[in-house]
Amino acid sequence: ETFTNFRLSRPILKAISDMGYTKPTPIQTRSIPLSLQAHDLCVSAQTGSGKTLAFLVPIIERLLFRPKDTPTTRVLILVPTRELGVQCHSVALKLSKFTDISWSLCVGGLSTKVQELELRQRPDGVIATPGRLIDHIRNSQGFSLDGIEILVIDEADRILEDGFADELDEIIKSTPKSRQSMLFSATMTDKIEDLTKLSLNRPIRLFV
Ligand code: AMP
Repeated sequence: ETFTNFRLSRPILKAISDMGYTKPTPIQTRSIPLSLQAHDLCVSAQTGSGKTLAFLVPIIERLLFRPKDTPTTRVLILVPTRELGVQCHSVALKLSKFTDISWSLCVGGLSTKVQELELRQRPDGVIATPGRLIDHIRNSQGFSLDGIEILVIDEADRILEDGFADELDEIIKSTPKSRQSMLFSATMTDKIEDLTKLSLNRPIRLFV
């Protein structure tokens, strides 16, 4: 199996090969085709499984092939920590290198003012921690989640452990029901089941 089997666009295939990846990991093999078909996914996977590419590759492919007329933030990726946000943002930028897709990172420790200006430009994708994102939704006039087409909740168990369940609920409810959603979690607890019911629509479950 190679990445070319997924019928991805050339700019993405070129970016993947520039990053040095030739063979998809098991989670990528299973989730990329399903995600490209816009299925909701509930994936139990550990860090190190290659889950970041598993959601970013189909997201970038879908952003490329459904061009928009006015700038809208179409993708939201929620992560538990600043470090994970920084990593995810860096992979997103590398994968988008040969496209004009824009990404913004919205996590603690960065200037709120600078983030607010960035969000007002309506980047195609936003990678955020729930705490910081909530501040922007509540306080900023120039940003909304009305145009979100794809939502990712990465390391959902850690987000809940950190006590951000209410923020997560509020964020999910601020996005359109018609969106595609993907949830990733190392563990599948009752709380994750509740979150799955709230955030996913007839999800396909993958255990990797
Ligand atoms: P993740 O689970 O997304 O944090 O990825 C874990 C590590 O696997 C990262 O260091 C990636 O660079 C690497 N990785 C992701 N996909 C592949 C792949 N298809 N082939 C080889 N390494 C990969």
